[in-house]
Parts: sequence; C-alpha cells; structure tokens
Amino acid sequence: MLYLFSMEIIKIHDKSFEPYIEAEQIQQIIQRMASEVAKDMEDTCPLFVSVLNGAFMFASDFVRHYKADCEITFVKLASYQGMQSTEKVVELIGLDIPVEGRDVVVLEDIIDTGNTLEEIYRIFHDKKVKSLRIATLFFKPDAYKKDLKIDYVGQPIPNRFIVGYGLDYDELGRNLPQIYQLNNSITMTNLVLFGKPGAGKGTQAAFLKDKYNLVHISTGDLFRFNIKNETKLGKLAQSYMDKGDLVPDEVTIQMLQQEIENNPKAEGFIFDGFPRTIAQAEALDDFLASKGMKIHGTLALEANDEILIQRLLERGKVSGRTDDQDESKIRNRFVEYNEKTAPLIEFYKKQGKYHGIDGIGTIEEITTRLSNAIDNLK
Ligand code: 5GP
Repeated sequence: MLYLFSMEIIKIHDKSFEPYIEAEQIQQIIQRMASEVAKDMEDTCPLFVSVLNGAFMFASDFVRHYKADCEITFVKLASYQGMQSTEKVVELIGLDIPVEGRDVVVLEDIIDTGNTLEEIYRIFHDKKVKSLRIATLFFKPDAYKKDLKIDYVGQPIPNRFIVGYGLDYDELGRNLPQIYQLNNSITMTNLVLFGKPGAGKGTQAAFLKDKYNLVHISTGDLFRFNIKNETKLGKLAQSYMDKGDLVPDEVTIQMLQQEIENNPKAEGFIFDGFPRTIAQAEALDDFLASKGMKIHGTLALEANDEILIQRLLERGKVSGRTDDQDESKIRNRFVEYNEKTAPLIEFYKKQGKYHGIDGIGTIEEITTRLSNAIDNLK
C-alpha cells in the first residue's frame, strides 16, 4: 500500500528512497525512444532483445509504444566463476531465436559502468547480426567507463542508485510504477570533525565511530594507505608530491569516494582532516550531493590554546614525541590551525551546521557533549 503514495519517501530493506521520475514521465521518455528507433528501422522488422530482469517493464512498455512490425525476445545474462579465480565468465541464456542477419536492438534498463554492455557486445560479436543497436532507458554518464556506443538513451541520470519500474534493491522495488532515488541523508549521520592539536580528536573519533556505527575517514591515513599500497590514486598523488606540487582536491575527493563506496553499510562517516579550505568544503558538498548524501554537522573541539599547549608539553615529556616538546613549534601548529579553520567555521556556521564543543574536561565529559550534539542533529 505504501507504493500508492507517489510523493512519499519509501523504505526498502534498510534504505530510504525519494520519488525521482513519475510514471507518466517514464512513459513519455519511452514513447520518444520508440519513435526514434522506429524511424531508424524504416521498413525492417527489428528483433528487440530485452535483458532480464531489470528491463522487463521497460521492454513491455517500449513495444507497446512501437508502432511498426517487430519481434521481441527475453534473455538473461548469467555470470559464473571461470577456471581461474579472477576470471568471470558471462553468458547469455535464452536466446532461442536465430539472430543471424537480423537488426537487433538490445533493450537495457540502465547502463552504469558499462561492464554489462561490454559483455553484450562481446556476446553478439560473432553472431553475424546485420546490425546491433543499444537502447537503454537510463544512463549514468558519470559512472560510465567504456568507450562503447549507446544508440538510444532515454534519460541520463546522476550517479545515484535508483529503484522502481523493474529496477530492484536486493530484489525488492521492481513493482514500483515510478522511479525512486536513494536518499542517504535521511538515515545517515555524516560529520566533519575539527580539533586543535591536543584536543583529543583521535580518541573522540574512535568513540563516536563505535557508538554511531560510523566510518572514520582520516584523509592523512587515506593518503598514506593509497601511497603505501601504490594504488592508482596513490601513484597519482605521489606524482604531484614528487614535483613539489599540492595534490589537487579532485584526487583527494576520489579517494574519499572510494572509501565511501567501500563501506556501503556504514550509517555515516566522520571526515577528519578534510576539508581544510572553503574550496574543499564546497567540493565535498557537491560530491556528497551527487551520492544523495550531505554533511549533517561539523563538530569542533574547542579549547583554550594555553591549556592545550601545557597539555601537549606534558604529553611530549611522557611520549618523547619531539613535535610535542618544542613550545614554539606547538604554537606554530596552533596559529596554522586557527588560520586554516577560521574560514571553514564561518562556512559551516552559514549552513547552520557548526557546533563548537567545549574540549576541556575528562574524556567522558567531552564524549557526552559530542554525543548530545549528534543526537540533536536529527
Ligand atoms: P553496469 O554493468 O553498466 O555497471 O551495470 C548495469 C547493471 O547494474 C544494471 O543492469 C543493473 O542491474 C545494475 N544497476 C546499475 N545501476 C543501478 C541503479 O541505480 N539501480 C539499480 N536498481 N540497479 C542498477
């Protein structure tokens, strides 16, 4: 019954989805596609090959709008493990109509990275078809990584997960008559954590991570990981560093993106060490928006510099960390922090997301203050 309320946010499994493309609009898109294809086909009778499961609704509406002779058949792509562990073999099941000499139009529900499309092209390569065209209802240009031709695109969409109209989330949602888009910002808690040196940011991040099931993304750690493991992005970052240049924000954002995609079950993220500039904060907002996410709050551990300097000097005596033993170096770190963070504080204050947290007290006292602020975010 939930599905009748087309303007309502719906829940499927653990995720929330918001209405994105109305049923009527989908029909208009398909009608336009069908007449474009019909025009190109002229007098020939095409064979539509619909790739199940996702394309079943699209295929049935498409042929309903197709006003000339045509045939339709349904296939499935099955993938199984090949002989070598890294090998994945994709096979077409159910193509029981001879396709040799035919004008084939593949009907796809959605093209994302293009991996599936690549398999389709490979499979049809030796089938001696007269022509092969690809028609996809939805296409994500930002996710597409191939150079393969797509002849007809119903609607390009941002790189966000959609369900409905044949498309599923873990098998549910295919029966929805309209398209919904994943809205992560409803169920997630995404935080930016600022903290002066010595304010206990690391300790508090570890606590918050456990309490709220968040993934802590420290940009410093992320850089070290990528560089150490010589990942593509790590090598790219290193190449800038070798030239003495700053690593462009774009590279850091891509590392963040990977980390976010590696943690699809996270209930939120704590960003630590990023953003450091307004440009980075804006880039982070844009990137999160493209994933249906946003920053819910910025928490800054505030403390009087003199108290923290004394704390760090004490810590330096015990730990032997040289950067915690030299008062003038510590003062420089504070000057740098204050200079860098001040514009960001303004940026987040304007968005109504800034929360200064008194960072003086016991660890427990500070975690209680942070938790109260997080609990009040929603
Ligand atoms: P590709 O191989 O192009 O990366 O992905 C194609 C397949 O991934 C689609 O046929 C579909 O099964 C799945 N897919 C990609 N993006 C989405 C999406 O936003 N929603 C759903 N439900 N499935 C998607």
